[in-house]
Amino acid sequence: MIDKVRVRFAPSPTGYLHIGGARTALYNYLVAKHYQGVFILRVEDTDQVRSTEESTKSIFESLQWLGITWDEGPYYQSERRHIYNEYAKKLLDEKKAVYQEDPAKGKAVVFKMPTGKQIVFNDLIHEAIKFESDLLGDIVLVKSDGFPTYNFACVIDDALMNITHIIRGDDHISNTPKQIVLYEALGRPSPQFAHIPLIMGEDGSRLSKRHGHTSVSEYRELGYLPEALFNFLSLLGWSPGDDTEIMDRDEIIKRFTIERVKDKPAQFNIKKLTWLNSHYLKHVSRERLYKLAIPYLSQAGCNISGFPEEKIIKLVDFYRERIRILSEITEATKFFFEDKIIYQMEARQKFIEPQESKEVLQEVYDGISTLQEFNEGSLETLLRRIAESKNLKFQDVAQPIRVALTGTTVSPGIFEVMELLGRQKVQERIKQML
Ligand code: GLU
Repeated sequence: MIDKVRVRFAPSPTGYLHIGGARTALYNYLVAKHYQGVFILRVEDTDQVRSTEESTKSIFESLQWLGITWDEGPYYQSERRHIYNEYAKKLLDEKKAVYQEDPAKGKAVVFKMPTGKQIVFNDLIHEAIKFESDLLGDIVLVKSDGFPTYNFACVIDDALMNITHIIRGDDHISNTPKQIVLYEALGRPSPQFAHIPLIMGEDGSRLSKRHGHTSVSEYRELGYLPEALFNFLSLLGWSPGDDTEIMDRDEIIKRFTIERVKDKPAQFNIKKLTWLNSHYLKHVSRERLYKLAIPYLSQAGCNISGFPEEKIIKLVDFYRERIRILSEITEATKFFFEDKIIYQMEARQKFIEPQESKEVLQEVYDGISTLQEFNEGSLETLLRRIAESKNLKFQDVAQPIRVALTGTTVSPGIFEVMELLGRQKVQERIKQML
């Protein structure tokens, strides 16, 4: 390997950061970290019409959220026009480029493609790729509006920024021979190229809106954790060489090499992402989980301020095993915040309507009034005693209470739920039920 690896991510700010772009950024980042190199961020904002500041901002936000941090930059191509002009002039002086007059728009600078040349490059992911210069055509360097084209600005910047490896999507393979010719014309060595195969949806066609969400920010909003998406994206076209799938950032950095990137398209599998997310959810600290859950709860109108923080921390901690993505926390815990419980029809018929259930609920209600302390321990003793005295299985006592308190038949441990709700609420809800 070269002395110091220098790689870059060069987004065009014409929209959100897409899954594909995020993967490209990630692979560059991983190569930089693996080889203790430098990761550069460069904004390719020379398309005056389509580039927006808002896109730039949201791309940065998504990168930062994923923990893909850059060592150098951001550079903005729109601020480097004098540099491209200087090199355009040089190529004009050397007669490698000419002015081309467009009566309507003004004059553009066009590079004259040398004829009869074969251009070959050894892609690090694919085999050797060959092109005939005769089929490439001349290259516009500077448009009549004075802005450089992508191919020109990209080559000048990659050359001046001493980029050693260009890692980008397969869709740029057709640009590469043009860029190589420009490096030659400028008397600069070409960097190494690594073109990553595209990402496809489950039907085998290129990943697009049709397949569902495609931007990083959408996954963030749905409640995927950055570490889950980071892990998932790393596997979208790369594998460490064995079956390991769950890897933290450091392990991925340690094991990631371009040589192991696959030369076949990767398939976006949402189930796998969700599975990874459930895994990472189990390992988030209680405090972080709480902070992550709050926006979902408040957006759903839950009365968060009506409860001590410690209670809500406990509540979401309880339910973390039952959700796969953070946005599901609302549905799972809404019973806790509601004044009026919405009972599932079936649950109610099965566990509340029978006379026996009503008796159980009444006894629990009365029993609770006599408890000195209202906690998991005392509640367990009480419920077990009632079950025994009525000659019932424990579940026959627990289920009616569960339905009365949460409206559903599924919840984590019933004692915990009762303690969390507190004596007053538990009694209110049982009474309401009766
Ligand atoms: N701005 C180009 C893009 O977003 C960069 C391509 C490249 O990495 O050279 O597709």
